[in-house]
Amino acid sequence: MKNHDGMYIGGAWRPAAGTDTIAVVNPADEQVIAHVPAGTPEDVDAAVRAARAAFPGWAATPPAERAARIAALRDAMAARKDEIAATVTAELGAPPKAAQAVHTGLPIAVAGSYAELAATYAFEERVGSSTVLLEPVGVVGAITPWNYPLHQIVAKVAPALAAGCTVVLKPAEYTPLTARLFAGAVHEAGFPAGVFNMVTGLGPVAGQALVEHDGVDLVSFTGSTAVGRRIGALAGGAVKRVALELGGKSASVVLPGAELAPAVEGSLANALSNSGQRCSALTRVLVHRDQYEEAVALAADAIAAYRPGDRIGPLVSAAQRDRVVGYIEKGVAEGARLVAGGPAAPLERGYYVSPALFADVTPGMTIAQEEIFGPVVSFLRYEDEEDALRIANGTVYGLAGAVWGEREAAVAFARRMEAGQVDINGGRFNPLAPFGGYKQSGIGRELGVHGLTEYLHTKSLQF
Ligand code: NAP
Ligand code: MG
Repeated sequence: MKNHDGMYIGGAWRPAAGTDTIAVVNPADEQVIAHVPAGTPEDVDAAVRAARAAFPGWAATPPAERAARIAALRDAMAARKDEIAATVTAELGAPPKAAQAVHTGLPIAVAGSYAELAATYAFEERVGSSTVLLEPVGVVGAITPWNYPLHQIVAKVAPALAAGCTVVLKPAEYTPLTARLFAGAVHEAGFPAGVFNMVTGLGPVAGQALVEHDGVDLVSFTGSTAVGRRIGALAGGAVKRVALELGGKSASVVLPGAELAPAVEGSLANALSNSGQRCSALTRVLVHRDQYEEAVALAADAIAAYRPGDRIGPLVSAAQRDRVVGYIEKGVAEGARLVAGGPAAPLERGYYVSPALFADVTPGMTIAQEEIFGPVVSFLRYEDEEDALRIANGTVYGLAGAVWGEREAAVAFARRMEAGQVDINGGRFNPLAPFGGYKQSGIGRELGVHGLTEYLHTKSLQF
């Protein structure tokens, strides 16, 4: 077991102000693998002061030089990719293949995209008789969840640094080791001291202190809608900029007459990846009544391949496992038909859940309305396309969606969905496309140029 010391503040690892620690647990075998310091408001204050002190210099650094540092960060992450992937497997439980490709490869690519954007984006534009300057907002407080430990960090830190902002990061308590590797890569990349700072700690302590700190100009949060709502209220009270990336309850709509096998298999693969711990998971599959039973039978066959401990990892924690099992029990209690999986633990050790497939789910059921964040997929029946649209849009969320069917009809349907991103016939993830939610799924966008502009504000000069 490793004990890690210190917070990354002002370009160095500094002793934490307090003595409390957080135990990091491997969810696959329930063993404690490390301890990290639990940050206090004092640590947060030191980090914000360092970020404030570094801001004028970094904001004035030519974009090409900022781009060069971000490219060096990408290279430093790439140089430790094996260690990053192994760490994500150890603290999140992600199967090694996913840890390499999704958890490590994707954030390296995103960092690269911001090295390019920093170098090429026009931070000045002409509008009529005005020159509009796009200037960095200031000090960013970034609060990230554990589900994609490195991706969630890079999706905030890389655009913030590209924009010329400085950052204080509070990573999730379950996955601080990946965050420490990231801080090491930042250090190696040669950013000026204080441009990036990190305080590990608990949300209600270190996270809240960061949100409330006067020296923070913009709070960027990803996590639960409950915490996001609180953070939005606090930021609103202080008139701070805020970006919220929250929950989802996304629908995969199989249009009448669509080819079933790719639609069903694609939806399941999406819903079960990362053990269902994804805000954009397609957990509601909507099928026309004429094709419904055939689709459920195909899904029952396909889900058998997702064996816990092999193709599907554990949930991140005992609490998360219990929450998910609670939803499975609720689905049964409310009258949905459990076709596969169930509440019983599939393995002796580890926070595993057997992927659950529910049929005969109606739109008002709890499992069709609330974010579960686990391997639970619901199949719903619809009468016609209007009915499908009502069901798809009939939650408080609006993060993602999918449509399967003839291309033109699918695009037309997607245009009417209340969701920030919709994949048509299994359209591939694009790391440059804006990512974010409608309705209670959030405020703001991440990734690509839209993610960059979140960290900029405008000044117009008339001359
Ligand atoms: P969470 O509590 O919202 O955590 C997200 C981040 O916010 C973590 O860094 C957390 O710190 C921090 N935080 C918690 N309370 C805070 C506060 N009062 N002030 C400032 N920061 C605070 O989410 P969770 O507990 O990890 O997961 C709970 C549920 O949220 C999941 O079951 C899922 O439904 C949803 N979720 C959604 C996403 C997403 O990508 N949209 C990601 C993760 C979870 P700690 O790590 O110390 O809690
Ligand atoms: Mg929490």
